[in-house]
Amino acid sequence: MTHEIAVIPGDGIGQEVTPAAVDVLEAVDADFDFVEGDAGDAVKAETGEALPAETRDLAADADATLFGAAGETAADVILPLRDVVGSFANVRPARSYPGLDAVQPDTDIVFIRENTEGVYSGIEAEIDDGVRTLTRVITEDASREIAEFGFKYAKQNGFDDVTVAHKANVMRETDGLFLETAQEVGDSFDIDYDTALMDALAMHLVMHPGEYGVVICPNLAGDMLSDLAAGLVGGLGLLPSANVGEDNALFEPVHGSAPDIAGQGIANPSAMILSAAMLLDHLDYGDEATAVREAVEGVLADGPRTPDLGGDAGTDDVTAAVVDRL
Ligand code: ATP
Ligand code: MG
Repeated sequence: MTHEIAVIPGDGIGQEVTPAAVDVLEAVDADFDFVEGDAGDAVKAETGEALPAETRDLAADADATLFGAAGETAADVILPLRDVVGSFANVRPARSYPGLDAVQPDTDIVFIRENTEGVYSGIEAEIDDGVRTLTRVITEDASREIAEFGFKYAKQNGFDDVTVAHKANVMRETDGLFLETAQEVGDSFDIDYDTALMDALAMHLVMHPGEYGVVICPNLAGDMLSDLAAGLVGGLGLLPSANVGEDNALFEPVHGSAPDIAGQGIANPSAMILSAAMLLDHLDYGDEATAVREAVEGVLADGPRTPDLGGDAGTDDVTAAVVDRL
């Protein structure tokens, strides 16, 4: 069966690393049709719109989307795109790789971040001069959906350890509901899990990341804890992510458009290629996804490496080396 993949390179190094990921997807044994769309600063300058309707439709109609990065217009592009694919889960693996420098070389954690509510509900108000409020929304449905997704993800990906992050001792109603619901879901799975107060968890993650596998989080906590873990494993050029919905998904590197190095051909394509591996997993090409990850690991260990990892190779050299190993 042919899958249609929307490809949206966007701005800056998005233009360089997205073709690298497409090269890799073309090298594996899978049947894909790629359809390309514009989004970001450049298309806004031309047309006045950061996310043209044609691009939005491409993402809506495709089986999955690969997105590079957008510059100034990032929020105008990625938030609606996440909406288009109906994404409720943000999956962010943070792994250290053999042979690469990392603050914590024994890290292999996947953050499952609730992607629709919490303090990012968007419900803010100025209720008086100098007084502003924010409404933190937690629903049982969204909590159940993210918990089920997280425990299932742990099972399917061989993690025997799940942690539910919360702050229910203070936010008794909202995180109380999140925690209660996640525990109910956790009890129905045959898997070990713990619950952890998110502040203490932040400290513990830095000191003992090896003790964690899958971490299920409310929105803001997932945003912050996953960035913290990114710092442990050595750099933005390595971190992929997935925004997963009911029957659509979008895959993007954690990094942005990196204007400081754009156009030089030296961006590290690993984060984008690893995002493509997550796309393969999502479309049930598990063996191919594993092969891509192993090829990237091999190149990270043996080179060639881009300058952010201390090498002097270009994006194309690294991509060619990955394709070669495949
Ligand atoms: P944006 O506003 O689009 O996020 P930014 O200036 O914040 O742009 P990021 O893309 O977030 O840039 O990158 C932050 C830093 O990390 C930059 O110095 C950038 O060069 C570096 N960086 C990010 N991604 C990569 C990559 N794939 N390869 C090499 N360096 C990278
Ligand atoms: Mg940035």
